[in-house]
Amino acid sequence: MLEVKLKGHDKYYCVSDVVRLFYDGLCEDRERVAVTAESGPDMVITCELEPGGRSVTYCGDKAYVPEGEPLEAGREIRRSLYLALCDISGRTMPWGCLTGIRPTLVAYEEKTPDRLIERYYVSPDKAVLACRTAEEELRLTELIPEEDLNIYIGIPFCPTRCSYCSFISQDISHHMNRLTAYEEALESEIRILAPRIGRRVSSVYVGGGTPTVLPEEEFRSLLDCMYSEIAIDGNCEVTIEAGRPDTITEDKLLAMREHGITRICINPQTMNSDTLARLNRKHTAEDIVRIYEMAKAMGFDSINMDLIAGLPYETAEDFTKSLGRVIELDPANITIHTLYKKRRAELSKETVLDRNESRGSLADAVKEGYEMLYEAGYHPYYMYRQKDTGHGLENTGFAKGDTGCIYNVAMMTDVRDVLSFGAGSSSKRCFRQEGEEYKRRVERCFTTKNAIEYIKDYAKAAERKAEFFGL
Ligand code: SF4
Repeated sequence: MLEVKLKGHDKYYCVSDVVRLFYDGLCEDRERVAVTAESGPDMVITCELEPGGRSVTYCGDKAYVPEGEPLEAGREIRRSLYLALCDISGRTMPWGCLTGIRPTLVAYEEKTPDRLIERYYVSPDKAVLACRTAEEELRLTELIPEEDLNIYIGIPFCPTRCSYCSFISQDISHHMNRLTAYEEALESEIRILAPRIGRRVSSVYVGGGTPTVLPEEEFRSLLDCMYSEIAIDGNCEVTIEAGRPDTITEDKLLAMREHGITRICINPQTMNSDTLARLNRKHTAEDIVRIYEMAKAMGFDSINMDLIAGLPYETAEDFTKSLGRVIELDPANITIHTLYKKRRAELSKETVLDRNESRGSLADAVKEGYEMLYEAGYHPYYMYRQKDTGHGLENTGFAKGDTGCIYNVAMMTDVRDVLSFGAGSSSKRCFRQEGEEYKRRVERCFTTKNAIEYIKDYAKAAERKAEFFGL
């Protein structure tokens, strides 16, 4: 077991963030002032923060000291510990010691790939990706006035539960009789809060789950309610997640078009029908193509398609093959996710990693995938990473031309307010701080994840949010 002793600081979360990149089985031992990792080698190292702000990690008679002027304490600690763990494990990470922070936020500050490489040990291709994405994120953020509100509406139900899912979404087979009650509660919550908003709305995102799982009548009713209660003007971006093709019907597409909606997500995750079946998704790759073509023909010109790299039962080559098929369809946006260890998912981390090829080939496949996207005319416009990725990779949204989804940028960058409706949703307010150009102080207000409780208590949830936003 590896033990990392903390000296001169108590930044357990920084130490844990870096150790987690290399080893599993973490425990913060406050009595011993240490972080331990069960899967690490049997050794004790010390991560010290000196009074002058420099961090040094000691391992036996070796001392690991980052070069250059010391950075802010948390970043400095991550740097010295990362250097030590690279040496101990014989491995480096694609994002270097950048963990616990969005890479694009650091890219805004550092401006150039070279600075990310020198100061945070980011690999050259990720450093370029972060800077390219940051540039587009900043451009899109500027299109969202700070005083505007962005709205999220959540439907936490899906036709079946994908075996890798970690969201709160529930299989409708257990909740069929609750869909109508849930949709009615959602409408009621919107009717309570929307008239009190008093701010322009920049974007509305209906997500989940799978919103199109609602029966046609309820689906139409929700759209009618949104458009009658929320001040959606001609410049407001509206996106509906229609993720699973087995929930999309011509009537639902028509209902969206009648309201002027042209932006939807149809998410294959993979274009391999065998994998889809094994993941408990009850549709084929051909269903995706059929629904995509139908939506295009009906005038949906901003379609996003999600793919996942590193799915169980798939090789790196399967991923690039799926991506090739999706690129042929020519959607406006393609988002590449990398499967990570998810606590709620049925698949254990072992299943995910053991059944895939090595971390290296997954990283290579993602890199090749990005090259394919660049070549096809896509550029990255937002990005996020999760801890516990198991492979240290990221999730990146790509867009053609000016089609990037501003809600995604508002949500991920944590610099614009979001008011959310529905079970399991989280609203946030972002406050400017003196001396900080890119960062905001974020306050959040959560709604119960339990759909049954939400149906009972939506009015209380609405009042809590009204107080939170001062409506
Ligand atoms: S479609 Fe998405 S939210 Fe629904 S079960 Fe699958 S992964 Fe979860």
